[in-house]
Amino acid sequence: MRSILAEEQIQLTKSLGQNFLHDGNQLQRIIQAGEVSANDQVLEIGPGLGPLTELLMARARSVCAIELDNRLVKFLQKRFANAPNLELINADALAYLRTNPRDWSEWKLVANLPYSVASPLLVDLALNPQGPKCLVATLQIEVAQRIIAKADGDDYGQLSLFLQLNYESSGWFKIPSGSFFPEPDVDSACITLVRRTVPLLPNELIKVFLRIVKLGFSQRRKMMLKLLRMNWPLERLSPALEAAGVSPMARAESVTLEQFVILTQMLAGSIHSE
Ligand code: SAM
Repeated sequence: MRSILAEEQIQLTKSLGQNFLHDGNQLQRIIQAGEVSANDQVLEIGPGLGPLTELLMARARSVCAIELDNRLVKFLQKRFANAPNLELINADALAYLRTNPRDWSEWKLVANLPYSVASPLLVDLALNPQGPKCLVATLQIEVAQRIIAKADGDDYGQLSLFLQLNYESSGWFKIPSGSFFPEPDVDSACITLVRRTVPLLPNELIKVFLRIVKLGFSQRRKMMLKLLRMNWPLERLSPALEAAGVSPMARAESVTLEQFVILTQMLAGSIHSE
């Protein structure tokens, strides 16, 4: 990896999260987590020098890889010249996915994500009604823990709920920092999230769900009831909390996903200010 970078005169950019995975065993584990097989279409964000891309291309029907750094894109174009099953896009993945809506529902995301945009990228994909059927993402271990956390856990919050509304965690494993070049300061984890076969909420209620979760966690130490009163009158909130089995004294951190779903169903259509 070092010699390729020297040959190509590429100096890595820390702000782009350019920590490349060089450990073959960990790359194989990521592929296995995605259960990548011949019929799969795979989206990869941040292919870097292409170690994961190469394995994906060997197994999947097609790979769409989005890389921001045009020096790396040039290298990948040379490395994978004439590859019939690779679509390489030179773009900021976050902006690209937002401005080029596409049906990803038959795709899998398998990626070692750029850390700076990992959370918004995953939130966008997970809340997309046509999001991928699974998300296999390598990211900082702290972020992974926040994504898969459950109510009452220290890491539970908006990110957990935004991701878990449409996806269920089916496992994760740690990747030590020594598996990357250059070595990042923290360990990483590869998480696997599988799209729910039956959505917990219809699409038209997702905005209300987001509103409730954002308000609920806007001040972690405050009771949910007080925070939600900024948007809903007490006469709507009391029956909603009761139906969800949420105490009027409860803070958002102890409210489960299923309870947020019931609150959403009860409060939908009754937002009186934005
Ligand atoms: N997949 C490679 C690997 O495993 O070695 C590289 C992973 S590295 C953690 C993240 C990659 O994402 C880098 O190649 C970086 O240039 C790219 N990147 C950073 N920000 C990006 C963005 N907004 N959109 C697309 N790619 C981005």
